[in-house]
Amino acid sequence: MHDFLYRQGEMHCENVAIERIAKEVGTPCYIYSHHTLVQHYRAFDGAFHSVPHIVAFAMKANSNLAILRLMAREGSGADIVSGGELYRALKAGISPAKTVFAGVGKTREEIRYALQTDILMFNVESSAELRAIDEVAAEMGRRARVALRINPDIDPKTHPYISTGLKKSKFGFSADRALEEFKLASSLPHIEVVGVHKHIGSQLTEVAPFVEALKKILLLVEVLKSHGTDIRYINIGGGLGITYSDERPPRPQDLAEAISPLVHDLKCVLIMEPGRVIVGNAGILVTRVLYTKQSETKRFVIVDAAMNDLIRPSLYGAYHEIRPVREVPGAKTITADVVGPVCESGDFLAKDREMPEARPGDLLAVMSAGAYGFTMASNYNSRPRVAEILIKDGQIHVIRAREEYADLVRGEVIPEFLST
Ligand SMILES: *Cc1c(COP(=O)(O)O)cnc(C)c1O
Repeated sequence: MHDFLYRQGEMHCENVAIERIAKEVGTPCYIYSHHTLVQHYRAFDGAFHSVPHIVAFAMKANSNLAILRLMAREGSGADIVSGGELYRALKAGISPAKTVFAGVGKTREEIRYALQTDILMFNVESSAELRAIDEVAAEMGRRARVALRINPDIDPKTHPYISTGLKKSKFGFSADRALEEFKLASSLPHIEVVGVHKHIGSQLTEVAPFVEALKKILLLVEVLKSHGTDIRYINIGGGLGITYSDERPPRPQDLAEAISPLVHDLKCVLIMEPGRVIVGNAGILVTRVLYTKQSETKRFVIVDAAMNDLIRPSLYGAYHEIRPVREVPGAKTITADVVGPVCESGDFLAKDREMPEARPGDLLAVMSAGAYGFTMASNYNSRPRVAEILIKDGQIHVIRAREEYADLVRGEVIPEFLST
């Protein structure tokens, strides 16, 4: 479900014409629907009503402060992967008591910062990291709550770059070694083991891998409990997929119906880390056609957005639907590459795409761009990062101003010896 629909041939976000937004704030820009965001959050959270749970929004999908604040208001916690994300989460008012910290390379500074703010727990990915957390906690006279991230060796059947739960992956502990690692963790005086964590990948379009992975984890939980380790939290990670083209991913309700009965009687709090499923279809990237070009073999639609604004097509070969903001009845269908101005052959938003003929000046909407869109944006080719807009109740809110040229050189210094 989302709120980017046509009215009389004009795409709107909720009840605001995209064309009007583009006129007011310029292009390219990301546009998010408040209504879609709230509906998605509530659908997910509500689906798990029968078990005690924490939704920790995976903020690497979208970390704009306004969106995080909205999530906080809805009761969401945060799944963070860096000190910078913790800073954002706190600034947005997300409760540290609902914040969990994953990632294979947490620095001591980041560990200290997280302990200072008393986050719920670290999701630990190696024994070296366990020891580092123990040491930092000792220096601070604290005990750190941790979950061990288990790699259940389950194929999530998604793109290799976003698949994280296979044996060869850099994430977590292998299930066979888990017991020993829990023993180590329990022996460290400044560590308190409270949970197990897994996250097998992103954009999953079936329930089965979630269930299989959880079952593996639950076997381990049973063994741990019999050894006297009190597991209070089971974190099943994120990864629920969305519809980019014709995928039919399970609904949160379907996931909940498969998962809830398995954990119902365990007296544990279930933690979930959804990212994409909350924000993916709640945002679009709006871009204007600059030129069209016909080479001997190909037709190009050259637009003002590029790989630095939305890297998913270049990085993963990801598919994003591209729709005209204004439908032209009887428009001719063309096959074209939609490309940006960046000086790389890998700079494209769509390849060999069948689409209505687009003319210079036309606006195009790159759909399903709310997750891993702006958060992956860069300044490559010295392109200022684009504006982010939130639509609520017919109002246009600029939640991140378009960067200016001066922003591009902030922090850069020409040393004295070069200054004359
Ligand atoms: C990326 C990530 C998520 C979120 O994944 P989505 O596919 O966006 O739901 C959750 N947990 C961890 C540990 C992650 O790395």
